Amino acid sequence: MQRKTTTAKINKSYCPKCGQFNQTSVSENNSKCGVCKHDRRDFPTPHMTVNALPGRGTDEYEDFEDWEMYQLKERVELVQSFDKLADLILAEAIYLAKEYVAEEEMYMVVQTRTVMLSRTEAV
Ligand SMILES: [Zn+2]
Repeated sequence: MQRKTTTAKINKSYCPKCGQFNQTSVSENNSKCGVCKHDRRDFPTPHMTVNALPGRGTDEYEDFEDWEMYQLKERVELVQSFDKLADLILAEAIYLAKEYVAEEEMYMVVQTRTVMLSRTEAV
């Protein structure tokens, strides 16, 4: 049996009051939120939420057979964007390790305190 690494849901509507997502459009189903009974609203375009499961590789054993082409394109763009971000973070970490050293320094902290002043000294 293959272990799922991520779960993906296509949400078509949401509740503006409590934030609950719903996988049906307002026109397909009851327009009331299942949690708070407020009127739901449709997203302008379907809204996908992807949850990664800890300790498992991203998309490892993922079955994309039922995904639409636009969903696959979005997934590829998301993964490419994540790869670019990881490359930038790695390059920055290498730069910091090569060009900087960690040292301790003393610094003064300006603080406010309440003191007793005679009325003749007070401003
Ligand atoms: Zn709600």
